[in-house]
Amino acid sequence: MLVKVLGAAAGGAFPQWNCACSQCRRLRSGTFAGQPRSQAQVAISADGASWTLLNASPDVRIQIEATPQLWPIGNSLHSPIQSVVITAAEADTVAGLLSLREFQPLDIYATPSVLRILREDNSLFGLLDRVPRQAVWKEIQPDIEFPVGTLRFRPFSLAGGFPGFVRPNRKSELDAREAVLGLLIDSPSGESVAYLPGAATVEESWRDFLDECDVLLFDGTFWTEDELCRVRGGGKGASEMGHLPLSGPCGSLAALRDIKCRRKIFFHINNTNPILDESSQAYAEVRDAGWEVARDGMEIVV
Ligand SMILES: [Zn+2]
Repeated sequence: MLVKVLGAAAGGAFPQWNCACSQCRRLRSGTFAGQPRSQAQVAISADGASWTLLNASPDVRIQIEATPQLWPIGNSLHSPIQSVVITAAEADTVAGLLSLREFQPLDIYATPSVLRILREDNSLFGLLDRVPRQAVWKEIQPDIEFPVGTLRFRPFSLAGGFPGFVRPNRKSELDAREAVLGLLIDSPSGESVAYLPGAATVEESWRDFLDECDVLLFDGTFWTEDELCRVRGGGKGASEMGHLPLSGPCGSLAALRDIKCRRKIFFHINNTNPILDESSQAYAEVRDAGWEVARDGMEIVV
């Protein structure tokens, strides 16, 4: 199984267009000890020939162009990308579907609630239904496995709500368990990848798969609870936004200290998070704890 991290940053990317935080400023001025990153996007493949996108980021078009394995071949319309698995209805996870609208046949997997938000409340996504079998929308449910090619997906519900743009009357009709999914992805030969880009907690019930999976891509959004509030001068804390911060006695570094997963990678990293700065104490702590920090273009052979 091949996993390509096409984009490793949280929404807004690094640097973020309207952000003048210390890290974005230093990156722009060439004095930052780290790399720019585009918005969170992963592609996964059992054979290197056909690929599945995990979500569709607003940066997906340039991410595909930066990845030769995802380029079309032959002399007509074609893409090695055959499917997209959507884990939430956030702009950061679905906006890129609109960049994949050029009559490409795609299987798009999402929960019934997410499909209703996209297809019944947002008519722009009708761009993916202009010809028969352009998008084939497929319903998935938490805790019910489904195959995509030769890969097996095990979705599970994560704490977190529907996006703020969903109208209250619609929200009341939807199943909260379908708002945000994590994924376990198994290869035909038994390797597995756990994908949790947004986790507000670490559940005890995850212990088994966290010990057994080969690669973990885990929520690396924030280092501290109040990180974004300090840059913005107010607003929501990390937990309220559905992201467990890395540091502190209750943070993800502490909560995941003992897991036996072979490769642990922080992914979906906000531009304010000091782990992006390879000269920082935070970066050293993460590396000392056996974690990697995801970067654009990272290829993981599982
Ligand atoms: Zn910034």
